[in-house]
Parts: sequence; structure tokens; C-alpha cells
Amino acid sequence: MKADQAIASPMSFTLTIAPAQVMRGAGILAQAGSAIARLGQRPLVIGGDHTLAVIQPFLQPALESLPTAQASYGVDCSEAGLASLRDAIAQHQADVIIGVGGGKALDAAKLVAYQSQLPIVTIPTSAATCAAWTALSNVYSDEGAFLYDVGLVRCPDLLLLDYDLIQTASQRTLVAGIGDALAKWYEASVSSGHSEQTLMIAAVQQARVLRDLLLQKAIAALQAPGGEVWREVVDASVLMAGMIGGLGGAQCRTVAAHAVHNGLTHLLQSHGTLHGEKVAYGILVQLRLEEMVQGNLLASTARQQLLKFYGEIGLPQTLQDLGLDQVTLAELRRSAEVACQAGSDIHRLPFEVTPEQLMAAMVSTTAPIPPRSLDSRTIAPLDPSPVPSSYTPKN
Ligand SMILES: [Zn+2]
Repeated sequence: MKADQAIASPMSFTLTIAPAQVMRGAGILAQAGSAIARLGQRPLVIGGDHTLAVIQPFLQPALESLPTAQASYGVDCSEAGLASLRDAIAQHQADVIIGVGGGKALDAAKLVAYQSQLPIVTIPTSAATCAAWTALSNVYSDEGAFLYDVGLVRCPDLLLLDYDLIQTASQRTLVAGIGDALAKWYEASVSSGHSEQTLMIAAVQQARVLRDLLLQKAIAALQAPGGEVWREVVDASVLMAGMIGGLGGAQCRTVAAHAVHNGLTHLLQSHGTLHGEKVAYGILVQLRLEEMVQGNLLASTARQQLLKFYGEIGLPQTLQDLGLDQVTLAELRRSAEVACQAGSDIHRLPFEVTPEQLMAAMVSTTAPIPPRSLDSRTIAPLDPSPVPSSYTPKN
């Protein structure tokens, strides 16, 4: 066996499964002082301008004995923003980074901490993504278009999930987080559903449990923010979704749902919607592709199930719902071409996809279910089975 084959072998790989420590609870930030001080004495808090103001009363008790500075990451996790954060680290002589905010703020904080070889604490201010957990940062252009992602050497040193802080975010962010977390199943089952590797099987099965939890509990959670079910759904979106990503590792990758998201970020008009909202729409597009290209009836059933669920919790079903009803054909083509470019995760689908096919899927996410055919050649990479009513998640 050649050396490069040995490196690519499934027997040798590095996993970044989870943060070294997770502290969660209502008001947990006030109690996190000693956990932060174990990592460093001169924290630099990185977030957006608005978030830095909001976080102040929550973090102040924990940081009062440590000389602390703040730096804004700008608007996107971009190369220019990262350079100015490195200056802020040098200026403050920071020895620990505290990232506060949503996906982009946390991605910027994690990446700059990695580049500067400093410990990193993540504090999510909403349940919109699992960025507080993962060893991955997305880098965007200054105009907000997705450019590339960077795998980090480890997950954060400390994750602080404070439900009181999460509750200050709009409901819409949790809805988006549910959309992003749902994608774990629809993407992992395609990219890794046939894997024989123990940890991959574990990741895919966890993704299915996560989907079931969300389908069962999301509506009740959204009806009672701050309540017990709401906390469980926050944990599902922020913690469990992150753990699945870590367990599955680099081989358990995203597929078309995130590729569609990445393509949409190249349309300026899409910038008013959240990551998880675009991903949720991307799941429908992925299922539609499986129906159109493979004739997959199970994908069709899964799409109908999700359309109903999206309608109930307010996730976007169409381009129009994403505010993209005025998009031109040329713009739609541009985003489809980005999603289909070489190296895109869309090519993890078990069939070829062209921009033309993708455009057709993008405009037909709510198409009615085709009449049941008796064609037994249909194969089913997805499990669209409705959640069994007797399903009780184990603690
Ligand atoms: Zn995502």
C-alpha cells in the first residue's frame, strides 16, 4: 500500500467530536468565571456590535476580575475581518478568545483563535446553528458570499449554553436552527447511509433520532419559549446536531441541501434570510432532485411530510418564501452553477446533477406528489417514514 493510500484509509483519521467542556443552564454565564479563567487571563470577546452590547450584563459577573477587551468581527466571517481581529488580539495581548453570537461571529472567533493558537470559548446567542460546537469555520467574501470552509484541529475548549441568553433571540432563529439540524439526516443518510464504519453508523442513526425529536417536539417548543420542551429542542439544534457532525467527521458530509444554500448566498437578495432557512429549503430541493432524476417515490413522500411540517413552524418552502420571487433566470442560473461547481458537496448525490436539473428542482419544491407508480425499480436511499407515534427518545 502506498503512503497516500494509508492516509486516506478509513482506519486512520482524526476526529474532532466535541468541545472539551459544555456548561449549560439558565444563567450559566454568571457562573462561568473560573472555567474561563482556567483557559486564560486576558480574554478578547469577539462578536457583532449589537451582540457585544447585549452580552455585557450576562458576561460581566464572570469576567469582572479579568482584563477584558472586545472586538467586532464586522458583518461576515471574511478575510478582511479576520485580519482586523488578529490585530485586536495582538493589541490586547489576549490569551483566550470568547466568541459570542450566531454562526458567522462564532466562525470568525473560532478561526482567529485557531490561527493565533489560543483557547476558544463559544457562547451562542441563538439556537440558529451548531457553530458553537463544531471544529469548522465558513469563510465568506466581504459581500457575504460563501467562499470556503476551514477544518479546525479541535472543537471549542468550552461551550457555554445559557438558555436565558438564547431566549433573548427571536423565535425565527430557533426555527432556522431546526431547519439546519433536520438537514443532518437528509444529508448524512445520502453521503454515509451505506457506510460500514461503526462511528459513521452511529452518526447517521443519531441524525435520524434528531430528526424524529424535532418533528415531534418543535411545535410544542415554539409555543412555550423557555419551557422544558423548548430547552430540549435548543439542545437538539445546538448540541446534538454538533455532536453528529463531530462523530461523522469529514466523511459524513453535507450534500445538496447545503450546496443549494451555498449557491443562494451568491444572490444578494438572499441575505435577508438565515442559514438554516436556506438549508431547510435546500432539503426540499435535494428531495426534489431525487424524485426527478431517480424517480424516487420515497423522496417524494419525505418532501410532502416536510412541506407540512415547514408550514406548521414557518420554514420556507419556496424561493418566494426566501424573498427570492423577483430573482431573474440569469441569477437563478448563477446560483445553480455555484452549487454545481466542481468539488461541491452536491456531487455526493448518487447521480450526476447539472445546473439545468438543479434549477428545475429549485422552482418546483412544492410540486404535488406524483401518482403512485408500480415501478418496482425505484430505489430508496432515504427513510421517509413518518415518526412512529410510540417513539420515546431514551435519556
Ligand atoms: Zn448548516
